[in-house]
Amino acid sequence: TPRIGVLALQGDFREHLAVLNGLGATAVPVRRASELSEIDGLVIPGGESSVMDKLSRAFDVAEPLRDAIRGGLPTYGTCAGLILLADRIVDGIAGQQTLGGLDITVRRNAFGTQTDSFETDLDIPVLGDPPVHAVFIRAPVVDAAGESVDVLARVPDGRIVAVQQGNVLGTSFHPEVTGDTRFHRYFLDTIAGRVRA
Ligand code: GLN
Repeated sequence: TPRIGVLALQGDFREHLAVLNGLGATAVPVRRASELSEIDGLVIPGGESSVMDKLSRAFDVAEPLRDAIRGGLPTYGTCAGLILLADRIVDGIAGQQTLGGLDITVRRNAFGTQTDSFETDLDIPVLGDPPVHAVFIRAPVVDAAGESVDVLARVPDGRIVAVQQGNVLGTSFHPEVTGDTRFHRYFLDTIAGRVRA
């Protein structure tokens, strides 16, 4: 069984641990650099990206995370986690840094105040039928994606909300809160080499 670390500095890491354990993985919270060598994959949860950024640097885990992701550690980020995985960020707080790994420009809080949080069904071809019920909470969107990035999902107005680049996966929304485990299973299948990464 794969051992999956969930970055547990802030945010909804408990929900991810529960989903991954439910799928038969061994999911463990990760807070220190030394724990990164013991995992086959990493999940970065939803929460507040600027806080996770600050804590990861304060705990000296940001640079090791950056190296691990660049070195090929399969990684899946939801919402704030997607922001942390973006190479470029728009509307970050002053001095906000990311870990990178996805050749994308991400825009924080992209849905504005009116639709601050909402739910919608999305067609996601790599997951098949039925559509995925997606929960967006002060969610980011992907403003621009490089050529080597696969777009997995868009909202109806065309904005990109799920991407994959090799072993790195990111969604603007939160599959960990809906009971639909297909995105986590897809991530585990990527690690196992059962789907093309
Ligand atoms: N708006 C948050 C941020 O910028 C993300 C919200 C979330 O993860 N639900 O980090």
